[in-house]
Amino acid sequence: MTATVAKFLWLACSVLWFAVRLEPRRRARKTAVRHSARNTREIILLACSLGGLGILPLAYVAAGFPRFADYPFVPLQGYLGTVVFLGALWVIYRTHRDLGRNWSVSLDLRERHTLVTTGIYARVRHPMYAGFWLMALAQLLLLSNWIVGPAGLAGFGALFFGRVQREEDMMIAAFGEEYRSYMQRTARVVPWLY
Ligand code: SAH
Repeated sequence: MTATVAKFLWLACSVLWFAVRLEPRRRARKTAVRHSARNTREIILLACSLGGLGILPLAYVAAGFPRFADYPFVPLQGYLGTVVFLGALWVIYRTHRDLGRNWSVSLDLRERHTLVTTGIYARVRHPMYAGFWLMALAQLLLLSNWIVGPAGLAGFGALFFGRVQREEDMMIAAFGEEYRSYMQRTARVVPWLY
């Protein structure tokens, strides 16, 4: 594997991610939002994530920018990155299937919102974010550039750490004891660990 092939694989997997997300997004949007905790801070955090996981790597794959930060590509990182990205896509696909119309790109509660605690949500409360962490890790492995590689981890990390507590507070406000007891039997992202 070469650096160019790895860039292409990053792009192909990203297109797949977009495809996986299309139908759930269309379906969820049909259900009105009853309560939203979106604010300026949320929009800034979403922009960080989009920049790190989307815009920067796209610019890199398309134009090679910023070339000065390139480092020599090791084929093993390309193979590992591809496997991790495919794993991320599988996790994200499963979360959409289980979350159904309760999904939202930001902090929203929809009409007749239900608390999902089964399927991929049985052990961790934020499996979709786990999927995005994996995507960011895959980017680090696939793109051999000191700036663009880690940009996904930094951008998504900002969104995750800036959001997760607010999301859980919102879920507690909406579902009370039901969410509290769900929290007690689950980890945030990594089963049994965190
Ligand atoms: N944090 C979750 C969901 C991300 S989508 C994950 O990583 O898998 C974000 C939206 O999902 C939030 O607006 C919230 O309303 C909703 N949500 C989060 N956890 C949920 C759950 N267990 N059941 C139903 N909806 C949930």
